[in-house]
Amino acid sequence: MDSQDSRFFKTTRLATLAVHAGQAPDPSTGAIMTPIFNSATFVQEAPGKHKGYDYSRSGNPTRTALEACLAALEGGRCGLAFSSGSGALATALHLLSPGDHVVCGDDVYGGTYRLLENVFRPSTGIDTAFVSLEKPESLAAALRPNTKMVWLETPTNPLLRVIDLAECVKVGQAARLPVWVDNTFATPILQRPLELGATAVVHSTTKYLNGHSDVVGGAIVVNDAELHAKLAYLQNAIGAVPGANDSWLVLRGIKTLELRVQRHCSNAAAVADFLASHRKVSRVLYPGRKDHPQHELARRQMRGFGGMVSFELRGGLEAAQRVVCATRLFALAESLGGVESLIESPALMTHASIPRELRLQRGLADGLVRLSVGIEDPADLVEDLDQALSLA
Ligand SMILES: *Cc1c(COP(=O)(O)O)cnc(C)c1O
Repeated sequence: MDSQDSRFFKTTRLATLAVHAGQAPDPSTGAIMTPIFNSATFVQEAPGKHKGYDYSRSGNPTRTALEACLAALEGGRCGLAFSSGSGALATALHLLSPGDHVVCGDDVYGGTYRLLENVFRPSTGIDTAFVSLEKPESLAAALRPNTKMVWLETPTNPLLRVIDLAECVKVGQAARLPVWVDNTFATPILQRPLELGATAVVHSTTKYLNGHSDVVGGAIVVNDAELHAKLAYLQNAIGAVPGANDSWLVLRGIKTLELRVQRHCSNAAAVADFLASHRKVSRVLYPGRKDHPQHELARRQMRGFGGMVSFELRGGLEAAQRVVCATRLFALAESLGGVESLIESPALMTHASIPRELRLQRGLADGLVRLSVGIEDPADLVEDLDQALSLA
């Protein structure tokens, strides 16, 4: 279902879609909020004759509202909600067959690497090449006759490199390959890959879309009806679906997405500027800063630079360990995209499973610290970092 409800005010503006898309007052009660349909099954008048729902794995009205909202935000025709971002990815990978080849960005989310390398490679023989996609030529060079999918993220994690979406899509289209974009970091507020010709957009809704660190969820949005039908079949067959309560929480979180992302961006810019002026910091990685290697690309491709900031400490791993333990407002935790600010050390936490040599080769210094900048008052965030850095 897209937003074809006749009462729906037609707009393409994201702040309005975030509040309303897929949602209309409940016809039976007038409730302005989408009801939470906690029902596993639905009665039928006669076998197969029902109001559009027969079993909640196949479809649930609260989930339908979320799926329509996600589709509208990404500018796609169809949305599918999942019980996690990883569930969305695992479902998408079932589009492939044994022996197929995937080209994947080399600094994608660690769980994406794990699923492709440690689960799908041994169980199905799907072969993945992890390639730095900063130069689209390297994407073209990695393609093989059996390549069936391109998978990328931008900005990347935790180095916040920016990948040229339009160029990668061009390479994919020339080879008639689907290009899948994990848009978790940017959100549709900052970039909409489907508009640039990407085949599918994937989200961990756990992060910015829900935005309150109280749900784990995922999503896929596509334009092609045939691909949607295949994915809906897999979604139902595999069953990594969100319950009505989680669907409702994500819907509610999304209502403030546009406002939150604006504040995440302005806070992150203030924090990045403060860090760049600090003598214990050797490098700040933020696409919004002029010293970022792909700043011009980020300006063209994104409507803002996001809430993630990484920086390197001159004092290496020990300094990083001290700083991440010393912040009082920034909580020491994995994950990102919530209203509260988080801090972590990739070498010790999110990226610790990558061997050190490989980490260093990929530019992940020991003294790297990653921030998910929340929506608190920026002065408090800077003050907190300032006192923690005094221990670096
Ligand atoms: C967290 C994350 C995922 C995985 O999502 P889960 O909801 O944790 O399963 C995938 N991609 C990116 C970029 C993420 O940050």
